[in-house]
Amino acid sequence: MSALKLGCIADDFTGATDLANNLVRAGMRVVQTIGVPDAPLAAEVDAVVVALKSRTIAPAEAIEQSLNALQWLQAQGATQIYFKYCSTFDSTPEGNIGPVTEALMDALGTDFTIATPAFPDNGRTVFKGYLFAGPVLLHESGMQNHPLTPMTDSNLVRVMQAQTRRKVGLIDHTTVSQGPPAIEARIQALRAEGVGVAVVDATSNADLHRLGPALQDLPLVTAGSGVAIGLPANFGLSPSAQASQLPPAKGLQAVVSGSCSVATNAQVAHFIASGRPARSIDPTSLMQGQTASVVQQVLAWAAPHLKEGPVLVYSTAEPASVKQVQDQLGVAQAGALVEHALAEVARGLVALGVQQLVVAGGETSGACVQALSLLQLQIGPQIDPGVPWCYAPTASGGVHIALKSGNFGSEDFFTKAFKVMA
Ligand code: ADP
Repeated sequence: MSALKLGCIADDFTGATDLANNLVRAGMRVVQTIGVPDAPLAAEVDAVVVALKSRTIAPAEAIEQSLNALQWLQAQGATQIYFKYCSTFDSTPEGNIGPVTEALMDALGTDFTIATPAFPDNGRTVFKGYLFAGPVLLHESGMQNHPLTPMTDSNLVRVMQAQTRRKVGLIDHTTVSQGPPAIEARIQALRAEGVGVAVVDATSNADLHRLGPALQDLPLVTAGSGVAIGLPANFGLSPSAQASQLPPAKGLQAVVSGSCSVATNAQVAHFIASGRPARSIDPTSLMQGQTASVVQQVLAWAAPHLKEGPVLVYSTAEPASVKQVQDQLGVAQAGALVEHALAEVARGLVALGVQQLVVAGGETSGACVQALSLLQLQIGPQIDPGVPWCYAPTASGGVHIALKSGNFGSEDFFTKAFKVMA
């Protein structure tokens, strides 16, 4: 479809939604796809975000998936490519940010791109090439202990250089603060020095808006979701209510929560305290093939309540209780068992007529989207930073769905979400 402007490749699912949300807020109509579609784009939009799960897989596999996404986006007419990674630059010494960047540059035949995870709205800032998470350097933020991608060096020039054969340079804050012409001049100078990837400083949204125009002619941009706020203007787009317009919401309302994060625990408690119907699922009740009968009981409980407003089904629990379950079942087994049960609950709720569904938890969201066979999400209005309503056409008339990653959202998120949609 010729209207497509920006083609995005995200290395994880909720990160893709975060990027899509920023693009919509800056004026683009956006669809997020789950993996690389095997059919052409159905809707007319300004940007597509292809959500991969390539952050921690083997570099060769991440490259292959990313190149497949690139090919599909090019076939849809994308004129600029955006490779989106985490705002804490989650990666290992092997990648996958460096190797995927390099592969995309090769495929696009370009000698230069930028790299910056800066997202000031979420406290991620880059200064003199060092990444800060809130008030502290990345390697003091807790990210040094991440189980899969421990980040022990906050200097992104060094981190990126360890992952790529291309020379890595820096566009520092002094340059960025002078505006687009200075940034463009610096890009030319770095190119002349043989630099292929430049880390860019940004400590505020104003910096990102200064950076945007200087990126207009780059075939490839690599970044967290922050840089997205400055790109739609390059295509003549500005913030508009139209960009986030979804079909009117209808049907019954429900929340499914499998996140055990601090924020989600508070949201579940708030929903229960508001007097609305809520039902918990105890993970140990799912053992020995009991999932189907537990799901049936939950759905039988939900059916009469749904007519009176949103219901909540949750496995959300405090850390001590989660640990107890994990000790009993194993971490992976407990996670998979609960995700499967909640996904089946989501499917059952939709079969009961739910067409407005909030899901809490990154992995839980992935499981629910898969169980519901949703392939493309149109991105709508923001409920809270990083969490928009989405709409997915289905055989039974379409579903509005909000996918909330663990620590996002205000305490009243589960009731506020439906008010935003109304
Ligand atoms: P978040 O976005 O907060 O990290 P996720 O859905 O990504 O949430 O991850 C939560 C994980 O914890 C999932 O794998 C889920 O199945 C699992 N889980 C949910 N509730 C429980 C529980 N009560 N005990 C043990 N594990 C749980």
